[in-house]
Amino acid sequence: MAARCYNARMGERVLVVEDEPKIGDLLRRGLIYEGYAVELAPNGETGLSAARDRPPDIVLLDLMLPGLDGLTVCRRLRAASDVPILILTAKEAVPDRVAGLDAGADDYLVKPFNFDELLARVRALLRRRQRRATEELLRFAELTLNDKTREVFRGDRRVELTAREFELLALFMQHPRQVLTREVLYERIWDYDFGGESNIIEVYIRYLRAKLEARGEPRLIQTVRGVGYALREE
Ligand code: CA
Repeated sequence: MAARCYNARMGERVLVVEDEPKIGDLLRRGLIYEGYAVELAPNGETGLSAARDRPPDIVLLDLMLPGLDGLTVCRRLRAASDVPILILTAKEAVPDRVAGLDAGADDYLVKPFNFDELLARVRALLRRRQRRATEELLRFAELTLNDKTREVFRGDRRVELTAREFELLALFMQHPRQVLTREVLYERIWDYDFGGESNIIEVYIRYLRAKLEARGEPRLIQTVRGVGYALREE
């Protein structure tokens, strides 16, 4: 991959809720070029169902939408999750910006925007989210993971993990129910380009499962055949 100042960590998901085809297409293509996975929703209803079914890492939200307006979409997204929301608005009036932030948005950008500035805002919000995610106690089913103490519990049973196993589980717990591809796991945990031939991921998944299921508990890390793995209950 060519040297760039920043490469999106592969697979970071951006949901773009934008009804203007030209802007939507520009965002979609530009963000894909930067390495993001992009889903484009042309109105608020499809945006909300996309966010529910395929949780994004960040939402770019137009305020002026047909049907369900952007502020309502923003409030509903915020009520359902802590996903970062960047509002894109043609309205320059201060009250609208304030309303957007009051509705739970993290930041806003006035149209027409500079694409590099948009990328910078997206990166800042994703970094903030990542910091926040790692500061929190993560929970899934009866699993808890504490990033500060590096402790993992399944119910009241302490699970001893190596540093790499811990990072792998933390990644799954930051993206519950999402399918993480082998490429994403490689990129984020081993931090080098996808080798393709190595079975290191399978090996670590096996270690992790053995430790998490040591007392015959149900499997939580599921194989998604031909794609990767997902943290979910069977
Ligand atoms: Ca619009």
